[in-house]
Amino acid sequence: MKEQTENIQQKRLAALYEVSSQLGSSLDLSEVLNQVMDAIIKLTDAERGYIVLYDEVTGDLNTAVARNVAQEKIEGQSMQVSRTVIERSVATGKGIVTNNAQEDNRFANQTSVVGFRLRSIMCAPLRVRDRILGAVYVDNKFFSSVFDTDDLDLLITFTNQAAIAIQNARLFTRTDQALNRHLGEITLFQRIDQQLNKHLDLDRVLRLALDWAISLTKAESGSIGLFEETEEEHDRVLRLLVLTDEETAAVRPVIPADHPILSRVLAEEKSIVIVDVTPEQSIDGTPAASQLVVPIRQEGEIIGLITLESQQSVSLEDDIPFLERLADRASVAINNSRLYERIQAANKAKSDFISVVTHELRLPMTSIRGYADLMHSGMAGPLNEQQQQFVEVIRRNLKRMSDLVRDLGDINRIESGRMKFESKSFGIRETVEEVADNLKEAIAGRNQTLSVEISQALPHVFADPTRISQVLTNLLSNANKYTPDDGHILIKVSEETDFMLVSVIDDGLGISEADQEKLFTQFFRAESSQVREQQGWGLGLSIVKKMVEAQGGEIEFESAIGEGSRFTFTIPLAKA
Ligand code: ADP
Repeated sequence: MKEQTENIQQKRLAALYEVSSQLGSSLDLSEVLNQVMDAIIKLTDAERGYIVLYDEVTGDLNTAVARNVAQEKIEGQSMQVSRTVIERSVATGKGIVTNNAQEDNRFANQTSVVGFRLRSIMCAPLRVRDRILGAVYVDNKFFSSVFDTDDLDLLITFTNQAAIAIQNARLFTRTDQALNRHLGEITLFQRIDQQLNKHLDLDRVLRLALDWAISLTKAESGSIGLFEETEEEHDRVLRLLVLTDEETAAVRPVIPADHPILSRVLAEEKSIVIVDVTPEQSIDGTPAASQLVVPIRQEGEIIGLITLESQQSVSLEDDIPFLERLADRASVAINNSRLYERIQAANKAKSDFISVVTHELRLPMTSIRGYADLMHSGMAGPLNEQQQQFVEVIRRNLKRMSDLVRDLGDINRIESGRMKFESKSFGIRETVEEVADNLKEAIAGRNQTLSVEISQALPHVFADPTRISQVLTNLLSNANKYTPDDGHILIKVSEETDFMLVSVIDDGLGISEADQEKLFTQFFRAESSQVREQQGWGLGLSIVKKMVEAQGGEIEFESAIGEGSRFTFTIPLAKA
C-alpha cells in the first residue's frame, strides 16, 4: 500500500516536472494558455478544464481557454461551469476541491452544479505574488471522488508556476502592442512631417495640418488660426486662416482675445475641451457637441490655435495627446514658411535694389563712355601721349564697370524669373561662327589657335540664339583669358539623341580640384596671379550655368591644373 502511494506520488512529480519544464518556452499569450490547459488536463485526469482570467480593463472574469478530456476545445453550452466555485476561489485566494458537489453543502444549491450534475470539482487561483489573475477549474460530471487533496496540492503547485508564465506573456503582449502603437505613430508623424515640410506656403501648411487633424481624430470640422498684433494697441487677435467651412475661411475671421473660450486657453495655457457649444460660443462659429482647442506654441509662446468640433456625443478629450503632437509639428512648418516668406521678401528687396542701381548706373556710364570715345577719337582736339593713356585707362575701367552692371543685371533677371528667353529653332553653326568671329582679335592677340569641329549636316536646336551666343561667348572668352599665349582652343559640336553637345576645350591653366568645387558660385575667381591679371568679376560661369539650365540643358566640365579645361553644355534639339 505504502509502495503504491509512493509510486503515485513519484508519477505525479514526474508529470509535474514534465509539464512545468514546458512553461515559459513561449511569450505568446494564447499559446501559453493552451500549454497550461493541456498540462492541467494531463496532470489531473479531469474531464473538463477551464482557465478564467480577469479582464484587465473591465475587471470581469472571462473564460480564456476551455478543454475536455479529449483535448478538444469546448464551446457553447458546456462553457457553463460552476461560477460559484471559481468566484469563491478567486475571492479567498484558496484552492477548492469537492468530491461530490451534489452533496457538498457549499455548492449543492448552485444551479450549475445541479443543472450539470457536477460531482468532482477542483479549482485553484492563478496568483502572482499578491495579485490574482484568475483561476484554473477542472471538473468531472460522472464520477465522484476523482480528486483528492494531493491532487489539489499538485494543481496549486502547478498553477503558481503557470500564473507567472501567463503574467509574463500578458506583459509581453502589452509591451508589444505599446511598441507597435508607438512605431505606428512614429511612421505616421514621419509622413505628416514630410508633407508639412514639403510646402513653404503658409496657407497650404495650415490646410494640411487641419486635414490631418480631422482625419485622425473623432472631429468632423475645425479651424486653425494664428495670433496677430492689432494695429492700435499691443492687443492680440486670433485670425482664422483655414476652416473646414470654406465660405467662412474666405473672410479670414478675426476673433478678439477676450472671446471666452480663447481667453480661457490663453489663461490656462493648455488644451481644453468644451461641451455643448453654441455657434456664438464657438471659436470658429461652428456649433459642437464637443469642441477641442489646442494651442500651437513657438518657443513657449502660444502663436495660434487648432480648434476641432464633433457633433457626436463623443468627447474629444482622448484626441488631445495626438493633436498636441500635431500642433508641435505644425508649429515647425509654420515657422519655416514664415521664414521663407521673409527670405522671399528680402530677396525681392535685393532684386529691386539691384534693378534700380544697374538702371541708374547705365545713364552716367553711357555719358562717360561717349565723352571718353570722343576724346579718344581726337574729335575734341588732339591729345598728348599722357592724355591718350589716361583716356585709355578711363575706357578700360568703364568696360569693367559696364561688364559688372551687365552681369549683375543678368543674374538678377534670371534669379527673379524676369529673364526672357525667346526660344526658337535655329542652326548652331551660325552662332558658333559668329562668336568665334567676335573673339577673333582677342585670340589673335595672344597668338592662340582656334579650331572649330562641327559636322556639315546638323539638325536645328531649340533655344534663344542670343542667350546661347552669350553662353558660348563666356566660355570662349574664358578659354582665351585662361590659356597662355600660343595655346590651343577648340570648339566642338556634336549631335546626341535629344540634344546638341557643345564643348569649348583649351590647353591652358586648368582648374585645381579645390577650385573646381566652387567654380559656379558667384564672384569666385582662382587665386593665381595668371588668373588675376585677367579682367573679370567671377560672375560669368554662374550666369552661363543658369542660362543653360533655364533652356533645358546641362553644363559640366573636366579640368586638370596646368593641363587645360573642357566645358561642355547641351541644348535641346528642335523637334521635327
Ligand atoms: P571670370 O572669368 O570673370 O573670373 P567666370 O565665372 O567666367 O568669371 O570664371 C570663374 C573662374 O573660373 C575664373 O576666374 C577662373 O579662375 C576659372 N576659369 C573659368 N574658365 C576657365 C578656363 N577655361 N581655364 C581655367 N580657369 C577657368
